[in-house]
Amino acid sequence: MPVVVASDLDRTLIYSAAALALTMPDARAPRLLCVEVHEARPLSFMTETAAQLLTDLGDAAVFVPTTTRTRKQYQRINLPGPPPAYAICANGGHLLVDGATDQDWHASVLARLDAECAPLAEVQDHLTRTADPLWLRKQRIAEDLFAYLVVERELLPEEWVKELGVWAENRGWTVSLQGRKIYAVPKPLTKSAAVREVVRRTGAELTLAAGDSLLDADLLLAADRGWRPGHGELADAAWTAPEITALPERGVLAGERILREFLKGSRLG
Ligand SMILES: [Mg+2]
Repeated sequence: MPVVVASDLDRTLIYSAAALALTMPDARAPRLLCVEVHEARPLSFMTETAAQLLTDLGDAAVFVPTTTRTRKQYQRINLPGPPPAYAICANGGHLLVDGATDQDWHASVLARLDAECAPLAEVQDHLTRTADPLWLRKQRIAEDLFAYLVVERELLPEEWVKELGVWAENRGWTVSLQGRKIYAVPKPLTKSAAVREVVRRTGAELTLAAGDSLLDADLLLAADRGWRPGHGELADAAWTAPEITALPERGVLAGERILREFLKGSRLG
């Protein structure tokens, strides 16, 4: 029986330079592999050891990259190991099968959003009217499914984020603050729903998961076992659940530890 390993990518398996959180002396830092180039610059990294673990995991389990990134943002990541048969993008809005969008899955997601939450246009309009140019750097729509803002974190009033959270909640939307990005995502748009579809298609009997942000909570709860790093929104909230292990590692070393746990869990499964 195959094991499904569904993992968030950013700040779970791959890390920008700003998120590495290396604390050892430079001379003892792990060697890093660049797995994403953006506009001709290195953007995301994992340790070389993590890269080898991910390659091994590709043989031991059905590894499913599970990200809030758009398909375009996902496709510029160059992960080590065999190309994944399944990948989840846009927080569950797109299920890629051998690299191509599954149109039936996407249609079923659109139908759910139509029926269960306020339309994107209303949220976008609210963001445009209330976000202050003082700290707002960019306002973006992702895949016509959800919205995100790029902000100057030091200038962003905590109160504004809190108020947005309440406003969104009343309309069936969730707000997640990750680094310099604020996401507004429809509640029915979940990673877990897409992972359940992969589990159904593969007939897997064991699902392992990892993630660091609020948008990963449902993914972790849907898995048989899960891990979260010592940094991020979930760690800040001291979020936990019975089958979830809160790791002490922070930054890129947490990514390595998570892959080690995935590999161990897959072999036991
Ligand atoms: Mg993340």
